[in-house]
Amino acid sequence: MSVPTTAFNRHRELAETIRHHDYLYYTLAKPEISDEQYDALLREIEQLEETYPTLRTEDSPTQRVGGTITKDFSTVTHRVPMLSLANTYDETEVRDFHRRVTELLEKDSVEYHVELKIDGVALSVRYDNGVFQRAATRGDGMQGDEISANARTIRTLPLRLRCTDHTLEHLEVRGEVVMFKKDFVHLNEERESAGEKLFANPRNSTAGTLKLQHSSIVAQRRLRVFMYALIGDIPSVRTQQAALHYLESCGFTITPHARVCSDIGEVLEYWRHWEKHRDELPFEIDGIVVKVNALRDQATLGSKAKSPRWAIAFKFSSRQARTVLDDILYQVGRTGTVTPVAALRPIHLAGSTISRATLHNEDFINDLDLHPGDTVIVEKGGDVIPKVTAVDETLRPDNAKPFTFIAECPVCSSPLHRPPDQAAWFCENVACPAQIRGRIRHFASRNAMDIEGLGEAVIDQLVDNEYINTYADLYILFKRRNDLLTLDRFGEQSVANLLDAIERSKMRPFDRVLFALGIRFVGQVVASLLAGHFRSFDALKQAQIGDIVAIDGVGTRIAESVHHFFREERTRTLVEQLCDYGVTAAMQEGNKARKLDFFDGKTFVLTGSLERFTRDEAKLLIEKYGGKVTGSVSRNTDLLLAGAEAGSKLEKAEKLGIHIIDEETFIQQLPEIPDRRRHEF
Ligand code: NAD
Repeated sequence: MSVPTTAFNRHRELAETIRHHDYLYYTLAKPEISDEQYDALLREIEQLEETYPTLRTEDSPTQRVGGTITKDFSTVTHRVPMLSLANTYDETEVRDFHRRVTELLEKDSVEYHVELKIDGVALSVRYDNGVFQRAATRGDGMQGDEISANARTIRTLPLRLRCTDHTLEHLEVRGEVVMFKKDFVHLNEERESAGEKLFANPRNSTAGTLKLQHSSIVAQRRLRVFMYALIGDIPSVRTQQAALHYLESCGFTITPHARVCSDIGEVLEYWRHWEKHRDELPFEIDGIVVKVNALRDQATLGSKAKSPRWAIAFKFSSRQARTVLDDILYQVGRTGTVTPVAALRPIHLAGSTISRATLHNEDFINDLDLHPGDTVIVEKGGDVIPKVTAVDETLRPDNAKPFTFIAECPVCSSPLHRPPDQAAWFCENVACPAQIRGRIRHFASRNAMDIEGLGEAVIDQLVDNEYINTYADLYILFKRRNDLLTLDRFGEQSVANLLDAIERSKMRPFDRVLFALGIRFVGQVVASLLAGHFRSFDALKQAQIGDIVAIDGVGTRIAESVHHFFREERTRTLVEQLCDYGVTAAMQEGNKARKLDFFDGKTFVLTGSLERFTRDEAKLLIEKYGGKVTGSVSRNTDLLLAGAEAGSKLEKAEKLGIHIIDEETFIQQLPEIPDRRRHEF
């Protein structure tokens, strides 16, 4: 059949659009359309190709798993391709799938294994003789990026398997790497306070994290991995369910809440249950995966170009609602960034009432072409953050004019400024009360100076009464004891507690103080890189931009910001005041690592060979966190760290009833895992 020009052109247009969105989604981790919109495009191109099979070329998006490989990592070829899954949002298509499966298998009934479709990033991990060899991303399905150093930092990924089945020379395990919702929110809060770009959702932050060049930073992000596939023949394993049990016995965390369904009705029931309860899970899911349980049946059914015939993903629709955009409000952050926020007519969506949604910046408003009174579409992924995704222009009120961004700060009325290379507008008045409050809140926050009792309400009162204008003023607040007694709900005891907490914060280590200063683009990670490199304020004050960029993981933008901070009169004075008021001592102590309860004051003995560390490296780490290492086991030994082939020391420790830990337990106690390749010990 010859292909009409309209179909040919539409096919080409669709292929181009899909490729563009693949790039945004897989490579940049910054999708611009929802999965449902993307899947609709894919569905349309598939239908065109079904009608006109000559359109189905090898490079068509219907024939290729969407991801790519990047040049930053070495490339590995998957021994068994890592395919995608056919997917649907529609119950009748799940029934069609069941019909096809039963027909092809020539059976009346088929048992399914149903699993949550965890919305993360696929990972393949290889073990040789039970020892971790390498981990790779899915990439384009045939080849992926080798990200072993990053994968090793995932604490739920065993480095040595516990399974007793020693016959397996090679084992490949596949699963989904995720970031828990709470860790994602926390990470974004940190990024926001550092003025860094926010991740759109936990999946994107997982993808971005796995591709970081510094595994020590990856280790701080608390990724987890849930396994769902075993590649390799084990005679006793005949079903998908048995494969997962086997993986569990090897020490893997397997995909939770999976179960066997004896008919398609139960499968649909499972989908309905999780559609309702998805928010109760600590991670995001975007549907369920239905797999034929018997491995022999899976082999009979085989695969198509892009996905196996024995499985289908039954996805959840994104949760959308329409509501009216009443107004745009503006918030001023501690760095002076003015963020527009949609004031929405309250609407109930997926378990919560939504009345606000961030609009990010001026460009976002212009791209959506928002007008006051517009009816907007609000979407909620599995994550907590609602987003305005579109406008229904047909419902736009007559005479509505587009929103224009405000020209003056809503708090102090100073003129706003938008730097040419940025999307944000700034209030440049450092004395703007909103900025003062924001800076002090950040300074006192949990990951910064951690000043207990200094919450938002107290800070607002202190700033409004002009008892403090800068965070340095906190340390002379004791002079205003009588004024403090006049604060809302403050008595002798609460004043004493607050002053005491402020006093104690002087002992915070250098990296935290650096983070607390609120230097633009300096989040916790950068702060600890800077602290580790310069080790004192004096050294940092002298540093030139070139010295700062020389640190791995610190770019020019950050370096310029840090350099500027320590050159500018106002901020320089603040740092000097902090030191004069007594924060200096803590900074020196902060040059040493924080002591950790697990190590502090304990005597360790090492035995056997460790996989991740040499003995010296492990010793350095134990000492860094407050422990000491001795050569032989005695009654004074608190812990024995036992690696592979541990000998007589292990026996003796067992006899004396000494607490024995393995390498994984040891790693789990470390707040960060140094990067061996860069000798960060
Ligand atoms: P997919 O995410 O729909 O399904 C396959 C993936 O599911 C696997 O690779 C695996 O990572 C994951 N998975 C989770 N739990 C699993 C389990 N228990 N068993 C097996 N696999 C499990 O497919 P994909 O190829 O990764 O991505 C395609 C999808 O990505 C599209 O359907 C679309 O929804 C989305 N996408 C969106 C955009 C966009 O711009 N919004 C662009 C490209 C792709």
